[in-house]
Amino acid sequence: DGRIEYLDRKLAEFGIRIKDADSQKVTGEVFDEVTLLALYKLVNKKIISSMGGSISTGKEANVFLAGKTDENGEEISAAVKIYRLRTGNFTTMSEYILGDPRFAGIRRTHKDIIFAWTKKEYSNLSRTKEAGIPCPTPYAFDRNILVMEFLGEGNIPYPQMRQCLPGTPAEAYEETIGLIRDLYQKARLVHGDLSEYNILTGPDGLILIDMAQAVTPEHPRAYNFLFRDIKNINRFFANKCKTTDEHELFRNIVGE
Ligand code: ADP
Ligand code: MN
Repeated sequence: DGRIEYLDRKLAEFGIRIKDADSQKVTGEVFDEVTLLALYKLVNKKIISSMGGSISTGKEANVFLAGKTDENGEEISAAVKIYRLRTGNFTTMSEYILGDPRFAGIRRTHKDIIFAWTKKEYSNLSRTKEAGIPCPTPYAFDRNILVMEFLGEGNIPYPQMRQCLPGTPAEAYEETIGLIRDLYQKARLVHGDLSEYNILTGPDGLILIDMAQAVTPEHPRAYNFLFRDIKNINRFFANKCKTTDEHELFRNIVGE
């Protein structure tokens, strides 16, 4: 396809070679014309300066290591999350987006929902960060691409909580419950997909990631999502330390 080759060439002028980022199969599934155009815009705006290897291939998105120039002109790492336009879990996305008053009135085509989803992850990360809760700093988004702070050391991402706990299990449990409470009480958000996979263990403690589906307490299903988050965390810690009853935790967090 001529458009794709053209964008590939334009990106190459900036020294960006998509083919290096991943296997040919992934490349084809992720980097369609719309995605290449979004990437080109981010590169042209100097938000992305290089693309590195794949960090993760998930159900809906791929995460890549990338380079970014900071305010002082220094090269720093970034994580680039690309929601696939072809193979996303579109039905779940619509369900969350359409109940969120912040996204009232968006068009309902497949692409528009994915663009709104990307923007929603950006907004949720900003809101979490502003409340002083550890999460990657969001840098920018365009269409289905989110650029954020890379959480890791060198080229290696921090481990997920399932692989590594900060301190004893009891301490990690307390810290996780504290994050759920702060997210609800200070950022007014419910994560909605919280598990040992979506919390990273950094050198200073736990860090929340993967927040596209997070909703405000006004969402009609906010309480269901909050209760499910608490249950997931209790399940993970059940055989590791003493856990608190989930109803008690729920009441404690929502303050009822
Ligand atoms: P998915 O929707 O595919 O689950 P996530 O946002 O959870 O997407 O990212 C998938 C994985 O990629 C994470 O579990 C984590 O290991 C890694 N990852 C995501 N964001 C970052 C980041 N900002 N820095 C470092 N690693 C990240
Ligand atoms: Mn995830």
